[in-house]
Amino acid sequence: MDEQITEEERDLNGAIALVALGKVDSLVVENIRDAAQAAFGEEVTIIEARYEREETGDVRQQAATDVIKRLFPFRHGFARVLGVTDTDLSHPGVNHVFGFADPESRVSVISLHRLRTKGAGPGRIAGRAVKTAIHELGHTYGLGHCSAHRCVMFLSFNLADTDYKEREFCRKCRDEIYSRFENRSLKRQN
Ligand SMILES: [Zn+2]
Ligand SMILES: [Zn+2]
Repeated sequence: MDEQITEEERDLNGAIALVALGKVDSLVVENIRDAAQAAFGEEVTIIEARYEREETGDVRQQAATDVIKRLFPFRHGFARVLGVTDTDLSHPGVNHVFGFADPESRVSVISLHRLRTKGAGPGRIAGRAVKTAIHELGHTYGLGHCSAHRCVMFLSFNLADTDYKEREFCRKCRDEIYSRFENRSLKRQN
């Protein structure tokens, strides 16, 4: 059989670049790294990117798709990119998004902006960030939204949804990811 691995197969597995855009809580970023490594079994490398806008404390919303484009250069050497920003993210049709993913380029971004609420301690805020991050990365593995409220792929309409769901995939979503990994390793052995 053909030994060549198609682009799709090669990209299914592979390291993840975790790009901290400007000033973001490093403890939260480390939490995301550890959780993503555990969830996907891939090496996750933290990259600190200078981001003038965020460094100057400019808190105006920016379009999620613009941030995704800015993250494209970080794809080099990585199968996936997840950006973390403190700036609020916008998307047409909604007044904000917690995160955004482009499954085609496998580039995703999350915002910490709305995760900090009154009464929420650092643990809860980090938990929200981790769940949002795993969710967006899940999209880059081809997963869609899940109807199970506890599943990390459940679409959070608000932070109560985020707090309620787990940082893990439900069995159905896990099986979906695993079946793709399996297919790939089977092909590889040929
Ligand atoms: Zn989603
Ligand atoms: Zn699920």
